[in-house]
Amino acid sequence: MDTQTDKLAQLSPFELKDELIKLASSVENRLMLNAGRGNPNFLATIPRHGFWRLGLFAMREAERSFAYLPEGVGGFPRLAGIEDRFEIYAREHAGTPGMEFLVGAVSYVRDQIGMDAAIFLYDMCEAVLGCNYPVPDRMLRSAEPIVAHYLRQEMVGAHPFTGTFDIFATEGGTAAMTYIFNTLRENRLLSPGDKIAIGMPIFTPYIEIPALNDYRLDIVNIEADPSQGWQYPASEIDKLKDPAIKAFFLVNPSNPPSVRIDHATLERIADIVKQRPDLILLTDDVYGTFADDFVSLFAVAPQNTILVYSFSKYFGATGWRLGAIAVHQDNVLDRAIAALPDDVKAELDERYASITTTPRDLKFIDRLVADSRTVALNHTAGLSTPQQVQMVLFALFALMDTPNSYKAAMKRLIRAREHALYREIGVGPTPNPDDVGYYTLLDLADLSEKAFGKPFAEWLLANVEPRSLLFELASESGVVLLPGGGFGALTPAGRVSLANLNEADYAKIGRAARALIEKYWVRFSDQKQG
Ligand SMILES: *Cc1c(COP(=O)(O)O)cnc(C)c1O
Repeated sequence: MDTQTDKLAQLSPFELKDELIKLASSVENRLMLNAGRGNPNFLATIPRHGFWRLGLFAMREAERSFAYLPEGVGGFPRLAGIEDRFEIYAREHAGTPGMEFLVGAVSYVRDQIGMDAAIFLYDMCEAVLGCNYPVPDRMLRSAEPIVAHYLRQEMVGAHPFTGTFDIFATEGGTAAMTYIFNTLRENRLLSPGDKIAIGMPIFTPYIEIPALNDYRLDIVNIEADPSQGWQYPASEIDKLKDPAIKAFFLVNPSNPPSVRIDHATLERIADIVKQRPDLILLTDDVYGTFADDFVSLFAVAPQNTILVYSFSKYFGATGWRLGAIAVHQDNVLDRAIAALPDDVKAELDERYASITTTPRDLKFIDRLVADSRTVALNHTAGLSTPQQVQMVLFALFALMDTPNSYKAAMKRLIRAREHALYREIGVGPTPNPDDVGYYTLLDLADLSEKAFGKPFAEWLLANVEPRSLLFELASESGVVLLPGGGFGALTPAGRVSLANLNEADYAKIGRAARALIEKYWVRFSDQKQG
């Protein structure tokens, strides 16, 4: 290995990506293709039309007050008669973008969810105008049941589920992660030196945060096996039987392999939780909506699981910053807090004394909310109210789409891109029923073996540093892939996001990968002859 590749091996995946971008954009008049980005290049239009239409209706409500003041002063919406005024507005604006969706949404909320339509409309108008602090701070009363229905549909589906869960609306899934790590530590559910298990490969922050000085957690890897379609082997899952492991953090479906945990593994984890009722599970299921009939660990082990969900990917809404934390009302976290030693409880009484006279009754999820504003600023906690409106409209859009046509469109879009990519390479990954296809790991060893046989693939692995293949793709073809290895994957692979570019671009990436493999094939053949 020369010093250049040595240096590259030291870089973090995100630093490496920056280097790749530099190389890929170094040739003038060549288009860079950056398939490293997870940010979707599509977005859901209908619930956004609904947002703007609702905003215009809310403005009309606001301007009913103080209308005699010409300086641009309005007031709060009024509950009395709001449903009638909405009906008149809908008739006046029939056929305009978002109107039909909004009318359908109000009737869905009333008829399917069983909420009072007037209160819903009033809450949403007030929220879209952003004229009050978010109250309750955890989540608005009209927003929580709707998002709960959505999470139940997408994360639980037909799986049996008893009891109810609370939701904390957050500024995206990444804020949710920050809040959870912090509150687990503040409440001594995780302390420096404690052992946690992490499902690998994983989105790198989940490796980096626990290692930070604030946390200094001892990490046990639970490795998915590429030869078993990226499932966790039973022997890996069984590591969770160790009572020293306090929590298991995972992304499901995974990032980068984009594979969901299969039924047998979910059952195995559920069985371990029965033997270890104290085990905390933290599952980030942002990609669950891209799978058919997805079942979250939250459905399988609801009392032990903290569910993190983000609206960023499915609705093309990374800039909105919309995420949610769901916790079952009967859960292991509240039980663990109740079982803390008396001196720790006394300390926590002091911590939360400013917000309640009975701090010991404060639920884990409400501690998350308080801690998100360093407790003292609890009264200004919570996701901004217009954000909660857009979240509600995204959720209603998915709930009302009973033929699942949006989901089908999402899947068609990413699957067509994957097909275009591997069609040009000539060979593809082994079909996997649990592959969700938001990302694909372009595994150059596997593809080389499929294209030209095992001896060639072995030669390639022995003679070429995996990361240098990504550099060649960038410098020769302008193609940027994120290193699969950087996420803890053990194979020489690049992560291709299928969300970020158009189909023709994926075909170009496929051709570039094919050319790279062929270049080495020629070298290999020459060496054999020479
Ligand atoms: C993209 C992604 C998210 C989304 O985070 P936001 O802050 O909601 O944008 C969360 N978790 C994983 C694993 C992701 O890949």
